[in-house]
Amino acid sequence: MPELFLGGRWQAAAGGATREIRCPADGSLVAVVDEGGAEDARAAVAAARRAFDTGPWPHTTAARRGAELLRIASLLERDKADLARAESLDTGKRLVESELDIDDVAACFRYFGELVIEEGDGGRDVDAGSTTVESRVVHEPVGVCALITPWNYPLLQTAWKVAPALAAGNTFVLKPSELTPHTAIHLMRLLAESGLPDGVANLVLGPGPEAGAPLTDHPDVDLVSFTGGLATGRRIMAAAATTVKRVALELGGKNPNIVFADADFETAVDHALTAVFLHSGQVCSAGTRLLVEDSLHDRFVDEVVRRAREIRLGGPFDPAARTGPLISAAHLAEVEAYVAAGLAEGAVLRCGGARPDDPALANGHYYPPTVLDDCTPGMSVVREESFGPVLTVERFTAEDEAVRLADDTVYGLAGAVWTTDPARADRVAARLRLGTVWINDFHPYLPQAEWGGFKQSGTGRELGPSGLAEYRETKHVWRNTAPKPQYWFD
Ligand code: NAD
Repeated sequence: MPELFLGGRWQAAAGGATREIRCPADGSLVAVVDEGGAEDARAAVAAARRAFDTGPWPHTTAARRGAELLRIASLLERDKADLARAESLDTGKRLVESELDIDDVAACFRYFGELVIEEGDGGRDVDAGSTTVESRVVHEPVGVCALITPWNYPLLQTAWKVAPALAAGNTFVLKPSELTPHTAIHLMRLLAESGLPDGVANLVLGPGPEAGAPLTDHPDVDLVSFTGGLATGRRIMAAAATTVKRVALELGGKNPNIVFADADFETAVDHALTAVFLHSGQVCSAGTRLLVEDSLHDRFVDEVVRRAREIRLGGPFDPAARTGPLISAAHLAEVEAYVAAGLAEGAVLRCGGARPDDPALANGHYYPPTVLDDCTPGMSVVREESFGPVLTVERFTAEDEAVRLADDTVYGLAGAVWTTDPARADRVAARLRLGTVWINDFHPYLPQAEWGGFKQSGTGRELGPSGLAEYRETKHVWRNTAPKPQYWFD
């Protein structure tokens, strides 16, 4: 069955190209999928434009759109097992993690469905200071949205965009990562099944420069929402500038995990491990920079290293595995290069640092949990996102120094502070230039709470009421109920 979804019809790529999707855990062939390009991207935009300009969807009531989202959430829950399996085969991540992801996907659709129902269609009256003026501020959809997503949380990152885009009444073209297309294809089937009008939801598959870039400077696209790497984000922002599109960017992070000596030792160690090694570090909010108070350093790092060595690698369906492979051979090589650069710049390898020699893992892109101690702020492995299971350790002696080190990065996505002193936790949290700060925790997020980055981690916010606002235009309607000539030019 063809896998591009354009104007309500499933189609093969115009150029007839296909791509093999292989499981990163063992190199096995998952499927061969259609691989689109610029022509398909343009056809998708045309379909979305038509559906927006002439179709019923932008003019449906908030209640109708909300009900649609709740229906989609139920369909996602119905198909959870298939979706989770597909996500694990494409990404190599543990099945249990994919299952949690699909729960979060359904919860996201449910949240935006309920939010838009609660908000309704009403606007806001503004007091114009006159009895002959009615002034009202209303929200409308932005228009045609290009939604471009990465491979690490394929359906979850997609849901953060598709759900609010639909809730606000937009039409869209989705371009998922070329490495992990299957759950996006499945989502399109569910959107069609739920009864969305043709052309509201469109799917283009293919690599970024070929299938994604044509969306980012297309004059008929009103908004680009992108999640991915910093370099791509910069390119997309520049391309979108040619037609002054709305741009929302969710980029990378180099997230600090600050541990003070008074932190609960066992809990802080445990979370330091999940902070960075979850999904083998392929998480935008991974806590890759451990900043630990000098007096605690030796004991804390010894324990992190002891436990990191015990983390078992394996494929998505290996119940004993605790983390999986990297997404590709190319990405594995990049992570290795970051570790090599760190060692060359003076970091001390405490564990990991070489591909595993277990023959059972030989066909996958595995890299072990790696801890680099004695790191300094200038090292490339400290400054740049390796997006792998690599923890760098720096020491601090005072609160000010901890904050300074934490903020010494172009990124500003997320981070944590561990201390049993609530006043200190509040002080540090208030000073960190991050979109999310966890106090004595790491990683949790809520669909009701905004997610996004300060600085070069992005622009705009996903989730929460701001995540819906990104997909809306605001219009001020001024009604003069007793118009008269002004004779300004007399
Ligand atoms: P990437 O930038 O390589 O690709 C992301 C998407 O952009 C893919 O669909 C890709 O095909 C497309 N793309 C690439 N070049 C393009 C171009 N010129 N024009 C249009 N589209 C293009 O990122 P990735 O490797 O897939 O994902 C990893 C990155 O995503 C990491 O940096 C990670 O931190 C980030 N990320 C951020 C968040 C967040 O919430 N801030 C969440 C997940 C991932």
